[in-house]
Amino acid sequence: MFQYVLAADLGGTNLRMAVVARDGHIVHRERCSTPRSGDASLIVSTIANLVERCKQYIGSERFIVGIAAPIIMDLAAGRIGTSPNLPMLDGFPLRSEVEKMVGVTTILENDATAAAIGEHWLGASRKIDNSICLTLGTGVGGGLILNGQPHRGPDGTAGEIGHISVEPEGHPCGCGSQGCLEQYSSATAVVRMTRELAINMQSDLAETDDLSAEVIYNAAMNGDKVAILAYGKMGYYLGIALADLINILNPEVIILAGGLAAGWDAFVGETREQVEKRAFRVPATRVKLVRAELGDDAGMLGVASVAFSSIVQGQKGT
Ligand SMILES: [Zn+2]
Repeated sequence: MFQYVLAADLGGTNLRMAVVARDGHIVHRERCSTPRSGDASLIVSTIANLVERCKQYIGSERFIVGIAAPIIMDLAAGRIGTSPNLPMLDGFPLRSEVEKMVGVTTILENDATAAAIGEHWLGASRKIDNSICLTLGTGVGGGLILNGQPHRGPDGTAGEIGHISVEPEGHPCGCGSQGCLEQYSSATAVVRMTRELAINMQSDLAETDDLSAEVIYNAAMNGDKVAILAYGKMGYYLGIALADLINILNPEVIILAGGLAAGWDAFVGETREQVEKRAFRVPATRVKLVRAELGDDAGMLGVASVAFSSIVQGQKGT
């Protein structure tokens, strides 16, 4: 019986690890930059290095390793399918390679599913059986909890909410489709839409080189029309997708996580309006739209929860 999970959150920029105890308490944290160049073996050795640094905080207690990563699984084939933000992981057997190097059981989970599980364990959807968690960041991730269990689908690809089509002939998406939610309701999209709108409208933002969703949010709060419109569009498309999800899944809670959720005040009015307009009245009245409670820890706590409760579905071989 192991007492700790060394839970990693493998992001496009940072690789973080937390020592998580059975009650969800975080005993220790480590972080470093995610290796962006070279091959996937560099990610394996960096994770192994963090494990070594964390091990000294748990004495002789047993542990296993969990990894939340921005990957689209291919559980049927027993490997990672693709990883748009870390392409060196495409088709790579990350779980078994880390397990080999570290010498302990290792599990792997999609980061957005892990965030949904973390919020279900200790955050905004605890004690709630049906919830959806969207991570609004560089991209848009999604995780589903149905009847108290994470829903991954037979291939591990369920919950790819970022790739719901919200504009049939819209902006091309990295997934190969076009008009996906991710192209309108991610931080990247808010920056792009601001630049597009600024061409034809008067805005100080047109002259800003290092635009970010945060800079645009502050401008929106100061009355900049382009910034307000960009966040309005972001919220509009998010509302369309949420209305579909509400009609399909009848969730009790929809959680918005990720950096862009910090812009809540600038978009949520438009999102609620679209939900009200488009979703069935009964499930739309029931569902609560809330912000995440666990911040950056959601993914690590989620993958730790998977490890502790052994809801490990088809992890072997990935
Ligand atoms: Zn897409």
